[in-house]
Amino acid sequence: MNMGDLGVAHFFCTRLHTLIIHGLGSRLVALPTFRSPFMSEPLLIPCPHCNGLNRIPAERLGDHPKCGRCKAEVLLNKPFELTQGDYASQIKGDLPLLVDVWADWCGPCKSFAPVFEQAAGQLAGKCRLAKLDSEANQQLSAQLGIRSIPSLILFKNGREVARQSGAFPLPQLMSWLRSQGI
Ligand SMILES: [Zn+2]
Repeated sequence: MNMGDLGVAHFFCTRLHTLIIHGLGSRLVALPTFRSPFMSEPLLIPCPHCNGLNRIPAERLGDHPKCGRCKAEVLLNKPFELTQGDYASQIKGDLPLLVDVWADWCGPCKSFAPVFEQAAGQLAGKCRLAKLDSEANQQLSAQLGIRSIPSLILFKNGREVARQSGAFPLPQLMSWLRSQGI
């Protein structure tokens, strides 16, 4: 190695060092200035189709965001089917999940179904709605302590926060959800 090489190496080291220091410095100073008051932390939302966890900015919730893994729409305006296998993934995330536990033989469940669908249409982007067939998912129904159906269970951040039994009309459902901060 001759002195010329050393000189070049030294130049690059110094240059890189300067760039890093300046880069960090300007970033630290500039962040609060560039940060728009409308920008927020992205929300973590599980995909109802593949269980992939997506990061979606709050201001983009109304833009039909697509799943990074399966490319299907993450936010639906209708209830999706929840199963034992999806449960652990689907209760996670920053949007609440409302689960309607039902069965095919249950008359009140069937009469409540259109109400639940209407609610899903009104709550798109605020709350995710899912239906759990208690017959097809008996183990999970037992784990959730379901004694009567229809039962509604509201999950936030991976844990149950409220529960209601019985079918009720849409205005009552919406006011119950409002009382839960939705
Ligand atoms: Zn997906």
